[in-house]
Amino acid sequence: MLPTVKINGKGANRLRRQGQVWVFRSDVLETGRAGPGDIVRIVDGRRRLIGHGFFGGSELSLRLLCGPDREPDDALLRERLVQALERRRLLCPGRDALRLVHGESDGLPGLLVDRFGPGLVIQTLCQATDQREGLFVELLLELLRPEVLVLRDDGRTRDYESLPRRKSLAHGADPRVSYREGELRLEVDLLEDQKTGAFLDQHDNHLLAGRLARGRTLDLFSYHGGFGLQMARRADQVLCVDQSEAAIERLRHNAGENGLGNVQAMVGNAFDQLRALQEQGGRFDTVVIDPPAFAKRKSALEGAWRGYKDLNLRAMRLLAPGGTLLSCSCSAKMTRELFEQMLVEAARDAGRRLAVLERRGAGPDHPVLLGVPETEYLKCFVLQAL
Ligand code: SAH
Repeated sequence: MLPTVKINGKGANRLRRQGQVWVFRSDVLETGRAGPGDIVRIVDGRRRLIGHGFFGGSELSLRLLCGPDREPDDALLRERLVQALERRRLLCPGRDALRLVHGESDGLPGLLVDRFGPGLVIQTLCQATDQREGLFVELLLELLRPEVLVLRDDGRTRDYESLPRRKSLAHGADPRVSYREGELRLEVDLLEDQKTGAFLDQHDNHLLAGRLARGRTLDLFSYHGGFGLQMARRADQVLCVDQSEAAIERLRHNAGENGLGNVQAMVGNAFDQLRALQEQGGRFDTVVIDPPAFAKRKSALEGAWRGYKDLNLRAMRLLAPGGTLLSCSCSAKMTRELFEQMLVEAARDAGRRLAVLERRGAGPDHPVLLGVPETEYLKCFVLQAL
């Protein structure tokens, strides 16, 4: 018999009625003999079974795995994995690099799996998936036969779960792989580069920027040039700015390999660079801003708002008439509504009138879980200066 965790009415309500899959420690009444990482039975105050979930030692105590009628065994984990892969096959045909498993949204709490061409990357974010990482490695090797499999358990979110940060090569010899994004071939080091290697959530937005770009273009917070290199295929010139030297080095390499001679990449602070460009009276036909998450916690929202507004205001001022701005934010706390409100204020202060061509998010390989707003984090607004 699995350990049983009893939760209060508020927690039960979240799971039963709100479509939520998380229960916080404050709503847990009894943990019995449950230990961190266990799969447990979740019951309400009257001991009625709500479902089964992953138990953890953190503030986020329970992650719902399945309802009361399903056995929470290895077969279920395998089934969920197969379903996630099948969903991608239908929704993202022909993609060479994509997220194969997006945690809670794929019914596999705390598990991320990314594919980059012949390489796979796993990231576990809670005790239960971390303890079962070996099983997921086995299943993925069997189902997908990758050349390389890397474990990138070095993200900051693991700190909340008291999990150590570590990374390793679980299969294969060389973590450097190359993958296709649109018409480009990109090289990435799955063990050393940021995140799991690249920002796959922006894939569709990269390609859109490639279609919209023209003239003089600017890619701020460029990382490997996910936006910049796509834009370089159509634009006259591209200027990419990122504070990471390693990212800019990789960007230059990938630009060269793809024969893109119109890309200038510089290591620098995007805020300073924007200010300098403004002083020089520079004008750009296409601008992309894709900063890191400024608001990781709610308390940081006010500062984040100012940061986003400052960036967007300056970027809007740089836009040539008819120019396009792709403005992104990956802070979940900065909701879509707040983000749009910030854009309204930035446009007002910049004295520019802009049309919203599209309100976008992450691609279909990063599904949002209905009822769990925390799973929607990426905003990408496409604006055009009138
Ligand atoms: N646009 C990229 C992803 C950007 S992620 C893509 O689509 O592939 C955010 C990037 O911002 C990281 O590469 C990080 O190195 C960089 N960064 C963070 N703070 C910065 C700053 N103040 N100035 C310039 N770059 C910064």
